Amino acid sequence: MIENSVPSHLAGAVLTVDLDALAANYRLMRDTAGGAEAAAVVKADAYGTGIAQAAPRLWAEGCRTFFVAHVGEGVRLRSLLADADIHILNGLLPGAEEAYIEHHLVPALGSLDEIARWKSACGAAQRPCDIHVDTGMLRLGLPPDELDAIAGDASLLDGLDIRLVMSHFASADEETSQNADQLARFRRAREILPMGRSSFANSSGIFLGPEYRGDVVRPGVALYGCNPTPGRDNPMRPVVSLDARILQVRNAAPGETVSYGATYSVEKPMRIATVSAGYADGYLRSLSGGGRAYIGGRPVPVIGRVTMDLTMLDVSDVAPETCRPGDWAELIGPHIAVDEVAALAGTIGYEILTSLGRRYHRRYLGG
Ligand SMILES: *Cc1c(COP(=O)(O)O)cnc(C)c1O
Repeated sequence: MIENSVPSHLAGAVLTVDLDALAANYRLMRDTAGGAEAAAVVKADAYGTGIAQAAPRLWAEGCRTFFVAHVGEGVRLRSLLADADIHILNGLLPGAEEAYIEHHLVPALGSLDEIARWKSACGAAQRPCDIHVDTGMLRLGLPPDELDAIAGDASLLDGLDIRLVMSHFASADEETSQNADQLARFRRAREILPMGRSSFANSSGIFLGPEYRGDVVRPGVALYGCNPTPGRDNPMRPVVSLDARILQVRNAAPGETVSYGATYSVEKPMRIATVSAGYADGYLRSLSGGGRAYIGGRPVPVIGRVTMDLTMLDVSDVAPETCRPGDWAELIGPHIAVDEVAALAGTIGYEILTSLGRRYHRRYLGG
């Protein structure tokens, strides 16, 4: 049973996830990472692709270390992979300490408060954890003053079994001196925290060079097909495609307007197809008037506002016999990659993937 999957004949849109491509992307990350271990980040339901399918496939490919954001995601992943090494990026959620212990989840501790809570939750037992150091993102991780406190009093870490000392890049996908600054701070942090293995690079960070990787790399978005090297060719294979059914095709005449707010005015006789996907399905409203789909390999612009369940396409240039109710419009696929949809929507591939909806028929290839 595939969760969140509607039977194919009842679905307005079909999400196809290519697990063979996911596996190939994992292998590419592993090869690119050189001597570093390639973990996999599978937070947010494996970036919308379905953790129940993605994580076991990554395991079968040899991945042993996994990162999720929430402890709840870790509990779920534990039920899928009994022997995986599972790390919780969001740290130690107050009140949830027992769940980490019960399910053998490794919290990335990022403050003295979390360190103290983990020590007291574990009592005398040695418990594995990561130490997350902030190196300039000001999101999670030990701030400099707390790192200094540890430098002054190493007993603050007594009883901890530190597996990884990690940090996270703020701008790994850009050429900016911030990356080198963060690396320098991370190296200083490692002088205070030399124990365990180091972990620094996300997908884009892996491409910054060997010194940026650490011992364990943490690719996420690239595994799912987005380009970790913006401005250069995408070395990853596409994983996700999305096709929506055409529900209705109509003729429109000059002077008429399309969709809510009448933002699109018909200027010459045209044909419009209404397809079964909208912002409730993750086809973002910001694609209104700027998005593009494909029918029979031909580009068809989104016209007017994307609505909750429906989107209108200008299909004037498409042969009518390929554009009838029940036919398919490609919203993401071989003609238009996730990153391109994101650019048209004014966002990033991450948001397109993690917004993917719950009303699709989900189809998994390979695996
Ligand atoms: C999400 C996340 C990653 C993965 O990042 P990608 O850019 O998707 O490769 C790695 N590390 C941390 C701390 C994260 O939050």
